[in-house]
Amino acid sequence: MESATVATLKKIVDNVLLNEGEEKFMKLRRDNTVIRGKIMEYPAAIETLHFLGFVDEGEVFVLPLNYDRELLKSFATRYSSRDNKRPVQTTSSSSTSKKAKSEDVLQLGTTVTCDACQKARILSDDETESLTSSTWVCANLSRLQSSGGCDVPDDELRDIVGDQFVLVFEQMGIKLRSQLAATSIDEYDAGPWEGYLDSWIQQAQGLEVIDIMTDILGDDSSMYLDPLRTLSICSPVDVLDHRPESIVQLFIDRIGEPPSYCQVVRWQNNARLKLDEIKWLALWSSIPEVS
Ligand SMILES: [Zn+2]
Repeated sequence: MESATVATLKKIVDNVLLNEGEEKFMKLRRDNTVIRGKIMEYPAAIETLHFLGFVDEGEVFVLPLNYDRELLKSFATRYSSRDNKRPVQTTSSSSTSKKAKSEDVLQLGTTVTCDACQKARILSDDETESLTSSTWVCANLSRLQSSGGCDVPDDELRDIVGDQFVLVFEQMGIKLRSQLAATSIDEYDAGPWEGYLDSWIQQAQGLEVIDIMTDILGDDSSMYLDPLRTLSICSPVDVLDHRPESIVQLFIDRIGEPPSYCQVVRWQNNARLKLDEIKWLALWSSIPEVS
């Protein structure tokens, strides 16, 4: 990861913001040593400059006076505190990750998926009250009506990659968190962004795993998702790593009221289907390798 490139982009943005209106900070000479070495080498860095509003005028990149200040500010904020550590497997509570079908009872923070575009919409308090119909599309949500309905980027994807990159991903055809999760780092020449892309894919997978486990458990999820996590059974691979009777016994020994043998067999069948369907899931295991 060429962190120097990220630092350079950040410096360019900081210079503009801290020296408002000063033209010399709004022009980047292509033959400047730093620009040549840290930006021009990397298509993604050039793309980012364009995204921030810089216009390619041959010898120089110029930021017009009417540049989007808010965009630059959010860019500067985002990259001032980011590090590149791989996230640990998420243990966020099931209440924030529960994906409601439209007929479910809707609560604050509930995520609903649009029946038309499949994008996730995380609801605010008053929005949950306005949703009553059995089918649900983005256009039903007033905040989306005026701003483009289904064209507005996915909330779950935005939560991971931020306001700027969610638009870049949309252009790349990655419109949902599940699509980001299924992205292979090798498919893209991410240049200086490789570290971020890798970390975002990991985050997307970690959150998707929770939703997938909820699907696997079905109606049992409200009762058994958290206890399974206590038993370090957090992914489809984990579910299949024990015999059904062993899982029942783990519950008896460590949790209390166990699921039935048939329930566990059903979870395992569902886990197999998910593993067939979603290739990256095979890498998610909470159980340490025994050497
Ligand atoms: Zn939609």
